[in-house]
Parts: sequence; C-alpha cells; structure tokens
Amino acid sequence: MNKLWVYIDQFKGQPLATSWEGIGAAKSLASQLGGGVTALVFGKGVEGIASQAFQYGADEVLLADDPSLEEFRAEPYTALLAKLAADSSPDVILFPTTTRGRELAAMTAIDLSTGVLPDVTALEVVDGTLLATRPIYAGKLLCKVKCLTKPQLVTLRGRAFARLPIDPSHTGTLTRVSPVLGEADIPSKVEGYTAGEAGVSLTDASVIVSGGRGVSNNPKLTPPAGMDEKQAEIWKAQQGFKLIEDLAQVLHAAVGASRAAVDAGYIPYGHQVGQTGKVVSPDLYIACGISGAIQHQAGMRTSKVIVAINRDPEAPICKLARYGVVGDLYAIIPALTEAFRQRLGK
Ligand SMILES: Cc1cc2nc3c(=O)[nH]c(=O)nc-3n(C[C@H](O)[C@H](O)[C@H](O)COP(=O)(O)OP(=O)(O)OC[C@H]3O[C@@H](n4cnc5c(N)ncnc54)[C@H](O)[C@@H]3O)c2cc1C
Repeated sequence: MNKLWVYIDQFKGQPLATSWEGIGAAKSLASQLGGGVTALVFGKGVEGIASQAFQYGADEVLLADDPSLEEFRAEPYTALLAKLAADSSPDVILFPTTTRGRELAAMTAIDLSTGVLPDVTALEVVDGTLLATRPIYAGKLLCKVKCLTKPQLVTLRGRAFARLPIDPSHTGTLTRVSPVLGEADIPSKVEGYTAGEAGVSLTDASVIVSGGRGVSNNPKLTPPAGMDEKQAEIWKAQQGFKLIEDLAQVLHAAVGASRAAVDAGYIPYGHQVGQTGKVVSPDLYIACGISGAIQHQAGMRTSKVIVAINRDPEAPICKLARYGVVGDLYAIIPALTEAFRQRLGK
C-alpha cells in the first residue's frame, strides 16, 4: 500500500491553486501504484483548507493548526514534516515548485537523508518506482530522473499537472497533528511583508502577455521635451507596455517581460520570464517584441499555445510559436485588444 503525500502550500490562509494540482498528480499515481493520498495542511486557522483538500480528492488530511505555524518558517515546518514522515514512512511527498515548497522539500530531504526531484513536469510509474521528467539546459533537454531513496520528494512545476474537478461531497479522514517545535525553539521570526505589485500572479496565470525590447521601438512616438535618450526610450517602452496591459486586462492575463525589458527599466524585475526569471506554463503566452532567446524560452517554452507578435519573421520566437503575427506591435496589439473586447463582450 503506497502512501502518497501532498504538501498544500498556503499564504495567509489562502491555498495556492498549484497545491490542488499536486493532489491530482498523486491521485493519478495512486491509480497506478495503489494506495491513498494524504494532504498535509499546516498553518493557523486552516481547517477550511483541509475541507478543500478533501473536495479536490485527498483521502486523508494531516492538519497542524497552531499559532507557531501561522507564517511559513522553514524550521517549524521542516521539523513537523520530517517527524511525520519518519513516523509514517510515506513513499512519495509532492510539493508545488513555489519558493516555500522548494525550501521545505530541500530541508526535509536533508532531515530524512533522501533526495529531491525538483521542477518536475511529468511523472510516470516504471517497475513500481517514480520516473520524473524535468527540463534541463534551459528547457532544451528533458531529463528522466529517479530518486533511489524513500520517501521520494518531488516538486511539481505549476500548471504542468491537472487538478481534479472539485467534488463537494468527497470527504476523508482528518487527523490532527501537533507542531514539533515550540515558539522558543524557532530561531526565526517573520517581521512582516511588503506588498509587491498587484495584478495576476505570473506563475498561476492561464494567460500571459509579455513584452520585450521591441516594445520601446516606435519611431512615431514623440517623448515629452527635455528627456535624454535613455529617458525617452523608457517613456516609449511604458507607452508600449500600456498597450500590453490593456490586452492583459481584457484577457484577465498576467503581464510578463523579457530580461532585456526589465534590465532596461521598462518594467520591474518581478515580471521577468526566463532562465533567471519566472518559469511559466500558461495555456496561452503572447510574446510581443520578444526575439525568443534561449534564456527566455527556458521560462515559457512549455506554454500550451504560443503567439508571437514580431516584425521579424525570422526571430526564434516565431519558430517556437504556434501562431506568428508579423508586423508592428503598436498596430497589432490595439487591434487584438479591440477584437477580444468585442468577442468577450467587455
Ligand atoms: C545568463 C543569462 C540569463 C538570461 N536570462 C534571461 C531570462 O531569464 N529571460 C530573458 O528574457 N532573457 C534572459 N537573458 C537574456 C537573453 O539572452 C536575451 O538577451 C533577451 O531575452 C532579449 O530580450 P528581447 O527578446 O526583449 O530583446 P531582443 O532580443 O532585442 O528582441 C527584440 C525583438 O523585438 C522585435 N521588435 C522590435 N521592434 C518591434 C516592433 N515595433 N514590433 C514588433 N516587434 C518588434 C525585434 O524583431 C526583436 O525580435 C539571459 C541572458 C544570459 C546571458
């Protein structure tokens, strides 16, 4: 009987949607390996998340609801997970590839003397063992990898696995567990959070509209008087990104960017997609004025449908894209926005 565990990542009592994909992946493994799916819900005031975990397919929930777990801190979360795993010997523990998921997986692996398969995009069962697929070399190669020790810890790339449809009638066994570390034993304290930018999260978005260096390229725009060359370039890029934001708003999409765009100061770094930015896998990725360098592709090539808007039909992004729209983005994006607005009745 295999024990398949799934860590449910939450922030301020809000579960991350990618956690439900973990339950979907575990259920699929359970249908091949046999066994049950246990969701791990840690936090304070998170009993509602446990109910949701059942509705997404968990057979059991281990719930640790305690003030010391209100904020994610690696030490109490790792101590608890490692203790639970040492006591129950799960075969597999799945985590979402979030900052918290990665940190917790890595630290738990150390405590349990096992390995982690990170950023996995597919899982299969071969001879009773997990075989994971993960992109390497900026997504140019897909590597198949096994963890030879148990438990097998795996972080799942967001949106690479399907979540099950919610079933309000599905329920299971709720087991309450207590934290291992008391507050006095925890060597860190969260002092607070600074709000980042509002908007749709890039990694959760099902649609992303991204802009690159080409967004600043509109000779017809005249910047306000008194700007030097660099200021004029940024001002032009900001006009271009307004078009991208309009399109993103109509499509309820997140706004992404190439590194050239963030390095040049067109848009903050949080928007960067690529090898040194965010890795995304939306249903639709619209790349505007982006050439599609290998480092950019590393962050978006697993998108389901890629559309390139570029005036150069030979740009690498046009070879990767399912649809290429060749022309000036300043003409194409507003026309697309208007067409979507009409079609979607917005
Ligand atoms: C170690 C390392 C890590 C890196 N990490 C990343 C990363 O994480 N993400 C990333 O993106 N890059 C990354 N890069 C940089 C990467 O190599 C490219 O330099 C960068 O992606 C180029 O950005 P771009 O496509 O916006 O610009 P460009 O390559 O300059 O392309 C601009 C494109 O816009 C088109 N264009 C111009 N004007 C218009 C117009 N008016 N209408 C339509 N199209 C137009 C052009 O035809 C061109 O294809 C990294 C590089 C290194 C060395």
